[in-house]
Amino acid sequence: MTSLDVREVGHSFGGLNVLTNVSFDVPAGKIVGLIGPNGSGKSTLFNIINGFLVPRAGKVLLDGTDLSAMSVEARSRAGLVRTFQTPKVFEHMTVIENLMAGAYKLTRSGVLSDMFRLPGARRDVAMMRDQAHELCRRFGLERLHATAAGLLTSGQRRMLELARTYAGKPRLLLLDEPSSGLTAEEVSQLGEWLKTLNNEGMTLLLVSHDMQLMNVASMVHVLYFGEIIATGNMDDIQRNPKVREVYLGA
Ligand code: ADP
Ligand code: MG
Repeated sequence: MTSLDVREVGHSFGGLNVLTNVSFDVPAGKIVGLIGPNGSGKSTLFNIINGFLVPRAGKVLLDGTDLSAMSVEARSRAGLVRTFQTPKVFEHMTVIENLMAGAYKLTRSGVLSDMFRLPGARRDVAMMRDQAHELCRRFGLERLHATAAGLLTSGQRRMLELARTYAGKPRLLLLDEPSSGLTAEEVSQLGEWLKTLNNEGMTLLLVSHDMQLMNVASMVHVLYFGEIIATGNMDDIQRNPKVREVYLGA
């Protein structure tokens, strides 16, 4: 199982300080939560963790290895994968095709142009199609397998994104506001899914406004204008006077 360490990370855009001395860890096999009002720096931190942004200060370690010199792709190959606030799906492709695209990087044969030429590649395609159908079943998308992703509801898109991400076998998954646009029932379904992924050995870092969903996290950090102001389980967090004052508006 894989762990993540965020050490003394700082960042600014122009003159605007967005993250100041942010340190926390995501222990192997745990679900850790990150909450905080809009603009507190959560997505910026995710961009730093997955390598979109180079932090002004500090570093991020995966299983103790400094990721500073690693590209987004190299981090992803190492098992560090993120989802986005708005699910990234290929709108004009069907659900099955989206899932096959997610699985492709796991196959042995090379670039897409090889796909239909070599016997080994043809076997890979058949295997990918079977895997994609299995993913559809697991993520409740069977009836939609031939539907264009652009026609799905937000909840269905989110499940597709999660299924496609799952196909890439991440070891540490960063989820940015996965409950946005979901109904209450879909949120509780998502929570069950996150617990299942975690039980299979995936380590999760979850950003969400949804307090119900946040209950899947064993440890939660509160980010407020770029600084961690509280850490604990959801009960601790909800009782913390500082958090109530600045975040819950009490
Ligand atoms: P959150 O995800 O917690 O809502 P963000 O990380 O998106 O917060 O944003 C933190 C702050 O950084 C905000 O004030 C936002 O306006 C600013 N910000 C984010 N991205 C950029 C950028 N690329 N350029 C300039 N400012 C940015
Ligand atoms: Mg954000």
